Amino acid sequence: MALENKLKQVRKCELKAIRRPSPIQNVSSRYIPQVIKRKIRKRASYTCEHVSMHRGKCTESRNLEFDHHITPYSKGGKNTLDNLRLVCKNHNTRQFVLDFGSKSLEKITQKI
Ligand SMILES: [Zn+2]
Repeated sequence: MALENKLKQVRKCELKAIRRPSPIQNVSSRYIPQVIKRKIRKRASYTCEHVSMHRGKCTESRNLEFDHHITPYSKGGKNTLDNLRLVCKNHNTRQFVLDFGSKSLEKITQKI
C-alpha cells in the first residue's frame, strides 16, 4: 500500500513537470527567468556591464536593462548567463544600433 502511494506521488510529480515546464528550460522565449536575472544582477554588482576600450567599465546603476549581448534574441540568442548582460539604457540603445542600424531605431521610436 505504501509503495502504491509513493508511485502515485511520483506519477503526479512527473505529470506536473510535463504540464508546466520550468521557465529555465524554456530558453526560446523572450521571457528571462527571475533566477537568471538575479544571477546576472549579482554578477554585474548591480551596475552596467558595458566596458569601453577608452573609458573602461560603465558605472551606471540606474535604468538598467537586460541585453542579449553575444547573439540578439531576434537572431536566435538564448536567455543564458553567457548570452545576457545588464546594461544601462544608453549602452543598450548603442548596442541595438550596432546590431540593427540606426534606421531600425528610428522605425521603433516612430511607433512609440
Ligand atoms: Zn552603461
